[in-house]
Amino acid sequence: MSARPKKHFGQHFLHERGVIDRIVAAIAPGVDDRIIEIGPGEGALTLPLLRAAGRLTAIELDRELIEPLRARAIGIGELDVIHADVLEVDLTALADRGKLRLAGNLPYYVSSPILFHCLAHAGAIADMHFMLQKEVVDRMAAAPGNKVYGRLSVMLQLACRVEPLLRVAPGAFRPPPKVESAVVRLTPLPLAQRPDPALARAIDAVVRAAFGQRRKTLANALRGVLDAEAIRATGIDPRARAENVAPQGYVALAQRAHAVGLQPAPKLAHNDYQ
Ligand code: SAM
Repeated sequence: MSARPKKHFGQHFLHERGVIDRIVAAIAPGVDDRIIEIGPGEGALTLPLLRAAGRLTAIELDRELIEPLRARAIGIGELDVIHADVLEVDLTALADRGKLRLAGNLPYYVSSPILFHCLAHAGAIADMHFMLQKEVVDRMAAAPGNKVYGRLSVMLQLACRVEPLLRVAPGAFRPPPKVESAVVRLTPLPLAQRPDPALARAIDAVVRAAFGQRRKTLANALRGVLDAEAIRATGIDPRARAENVAPQGYVALAQRAHAVGLQPAPKLAHNDYQ
């Protein structure tokens, strides 16, 4: 029997077979892949993933859903359910036999913190397939010049390849969410291509300053961080606006700022990524 979805856990259960099949096909689970599902709910994605991979670890916060889910998995494969808030789970410790393939129709109320928690464990992750609000996926994937290109786009694109895969209408869920959804694939870049932690902090500071005043020129928005001359020295026009600078441009600006002793920015709240 189906449970009554709980709003405070962000529960919107997928029921449309076609959508479920397309998500599973996009993930293309292989036998023995180390699949970790965040928020399995009643198992709409869990069971087909388990059938293909043979084993799966799911992390679910709602205790009431766990026993019914275990019961549904009997005879299908080896399902391990961790009863926890995923934000408290050390994902790296789960990568004992190969890199993780994360999947989940994420609870939207906490999707940004979950995203950044996963990125903090990027070294242990092969790829991630997440259902999110479409508006968030649009911001994640936006290119320079797009009106939704912003901090989330820059910070994420410097850490991962971002591929929007499919749009999902509210009617595919029970109950339907108020917004459109989309599935995105995130593939962490090789370590050598990702900024080291000190540079990442400098990038964070520069990006925050630039997009904090996105209508101003960079020279104005970065006042106190980098002067016009220093901006020009990176090959970027100081009259440009934040939304026209590519992610790698922010790396160059941050390297420059780092070199002149920019103070690292205070740690950001996850939901601060606009
Ligand atoms: N995967 C199911 C589906 O597609 O039908 C359920 C998706 S529902 C949008 C989100 C799921 O995440 C729910 O099962 C909810 O209980 C669970 N959840 C909410 N917050 C969580 C957290 N912090 N950690 C782990 N699971 C969480």
